[in-house]
Amino acid sequence: MSQTVAVIKGDGIGPEIMDATLQVLDALECGLTYEFIDAGLVALDKHGTLIPQSSLDAIEKHGIALKGPLTTPIGKGFSSINVQLRRHFDLYANVRPAISFPGTRSRYDDIDMITVRENTEGAYLSDGQEMIDDGNTGISVIKVTRQGSERIVRYAFELAKQNGRKKVTAVHKANIIKTSSGLFLDVARDIASEYPEIEFQEMIVDNACMQLVMNPHQFDVVVTTNLFGDILSDLCAGLVGGLGLAPGANIGEKAAIFEAVHGSAPDIAGKKIANPCALLLAAAQMLDHLGMTAKGDAIRQGIRAVLENRRDMVTPDMGGTGTTDTFAQALVEHLQR
Ligand code: NAD
Repeated sequence: MSQTVAVIKGDGIGPEIMDATLQVLDALECGLTYEFIDAGLVALDKHGTLIPQSSLDAIEKHGIALKGPLTTPIGKGFSSINVQLRRHFDLYANVRPAISFPGTRSRYDDIDMITVRENTEGAYLSDGQEMIDDGNTGISVIKVTRQGSERIVRYAFELAKQNGRKKVTAVHKANIIKTSSGLFLDVARDIASEYPEIEFQEMIVDNACMQLVMNPHQFDVVVTTNLFGDILSDLCAGLVGGLGLAPGANIGEKAAIFEAVHGSAPDIAGKKIANPCALLLAAAQMLDHLGMTAKGDAIRQGIRAVLENRRDMVTPDMGGTGTTDTFAQALVEHLQR
């Protein structure tokens, strides 16, 4: 049975990198069909809302969405569409691979790790923020639940198991934040005991930051709570050359949304120089999720080959002289060889 993917082209450079990505998916003959849906500025123009109900219905129906970056208008009272989608579909796992690619400006080679960030609780509660004392004191609640911790840690171990990964590191601050972070660590230890074949390591978040910068190769899968995950996953993107190559997946029980981590880059929109790699890598993650790992690997290996051998086809941010379209063309040629 063919899988339909809800596709949000997105704002700014979104349509350019999405067209390039769909061209590559078509060349791979993945048997996917697409339903194009509106979100972001396009939706605001057409429907008067950043994410219309019809788009939510399509994501719910198909269970899978590929999303270009969206612009959230600033200072007009709109809340982030990405946060809205996460809440609406209870997308509890934010999964961000950090993989080294050739020709990138980065400190290390051969990094291949994944951060799994809890996406729905922790320090990210909209109802846990309060200003008191005439605006002179800010209160932010951190809420961690056993159920939320169990599902994210289990997700990390299952991901490790299914991908032949050897180690899961739980990052926490249980020594100081004894309640919420302490609960997360307790749960992580319990779940880890169910997976004796996978090495379990626990690490305090400040040490984890230092270790990631000094010796990142020791990490395989990192699982952590919302705020630490937000920070650590960007740190990991920095280790492999920045957001241009950073894909992300937001996964729930009923839906999964795959996206580039970077934004809509309005400064280069329409210039045809946007790097499509992050969205292509998100599409590869989507194929993994759909059980088409060989095709996902083909995209990752193809990107590696193009970056290594076709500098004329690579976008300027990666030091090349090509365009979004030439990159896609070079990748398609590689895949069809
Ligand atoms: P940005 O990621 O859009 O851009 C930061 C810098 O990186 C810019 O110089 C841009 O040109 C460059 N850049 C980003 N992606 C690139 C690519 N694929 N190829 C080449 N260069 C690239 O961040 P920003 O400027 O802070 O945000 C712009 C808009 O994007 C805002 O409206 C913000 O709300 C939105 N945003 C959306 C998402 C998302 O939908 N996931 C994430 C972050 C920001």
